Amino acid sequence: MKPAAFSYYRPRSLDEAIALLVEHGFDAKVIAGGQSLAPMMNMRFAQPMHLVDLNGIAGLDGVRREQGALRVGALTRHHTLATDPLVAHACPLLAEVAATIGHYAIRQRGTLGGSLAHADPAAQLPLVARTLDARIDVVGPGGAREIAAADFVLAAMSTTLDADEIVTAVSFPCARAGEGHAFELFCRRHGDFAIAACAVTVSVSDGHFDALRLGVGGVADAPLALDEVAAGFVGARADAAVVARIAASVAASVEPVPQPGIPAAYRLELVEALSARALARAIRRALNEV
Ligand SMILES: Cc1cc2nc3c(=O)[nH]c(=O)nc-3n(C[C@H](O)[C@H](O)[C@H](O)COP(=O)(O)OP(=O)(O)OC[C@H]3O[C@@H](n4cnc5c(N)ncnc54)[C@H](O)[C@@H]3O)c2cc1C
Repeated sequence: MKPAAFSYYRPRSLDEAIALLVEHGFDAKVIAGGQSLAPMMNMRFAQPMHLVDLNGIAGLDGVRREQGALRVGALTRHHTLATDPLVAHACPLLAEVAATIGHYAIRQRGTLGGSLAHADPAAQLPLVARTLDARIDVVGPGGAREIAAADFVLAAMSTTLDADEIVTAVSFPCARAGEGHAFELFCRRHGDFAIAACAVTVSVSDGHFDALRLGVGGVADAPLALDEVAAGFVGARADAAVVARIAASVAASVEPVPQPGIPAAYRLELVEALSARALARAIRRALNEV
């Protein structure tokens, strides 16, 4: 399949890229890794008349620590997230999750900013951003603004980004000392998008939860952070019985969107099983048992 005809631009600066987006409005789209947009153009689900390639703009990729956060440039590839030692150290959940995205070739090209802007409800990186309360930096003709991950995704494939705005970086809070993390996903074949996924971080002291974050992806039209469920278990014993209760509460709190061939009840069972598995592994990590 071939895309419809389009003009291609390779700006050298954000200002130039934004000027092109302003000039062409809804007829223009930025392209980063092309791993979602190019297939959509080939199938003609997307037919932008003007393609603005971000890959010629210096300074949009890379990873650095900044004021207790890991700041990741929007053009940073999934492969870098999965393999950079700084990511593994400062935000190990992000590294673990990135390694599970698609296949090697896709991880070599796909970018963090592209994944967030694309907002596939089953995608891993929007789930991590939501679970960890990441902050998303964007820039447009009106200047720069920061968007909380909680406010970024509106619905499946829909975000608060204006058509002439570009994601420039994402700040993830660094893991606390002694924090455990885990990510579990279920898909039919290796490399497929998740039917359900759970991301978890925990801190444990004296056998009790000090802090807890729970995220669920793939079941609703946007990633979910179950902050109320998590808050209800802070102070509880970090043992198998409580893990089972948390997992049941997580499953009871989500409402799967209908999907042909995947019954909601099945998805809820998956969410419960994946949450329990992720929690158990995160606790073992927090206790240095793995
Ligand atoms: C076979 C296959 C399997 C895959 N499996 C998975 C998977 O298991 N899990 C998963 O999460 N993903 C998966 N993906 C998607 C992959 O992760 C994509 O790389 C990602 O979703 C989009 O990133 P990109 O950089 O390729 O974006 P592009 O395809 O270049 O762009 C996607 C959208 O984001 C917009 N955009 C891109 N960058 C920016 C920016 N900086 N600011 C504003 N808008 C921007 C574009 O205009 C476009 O609308 C898969 C893709 C393929 C082809």
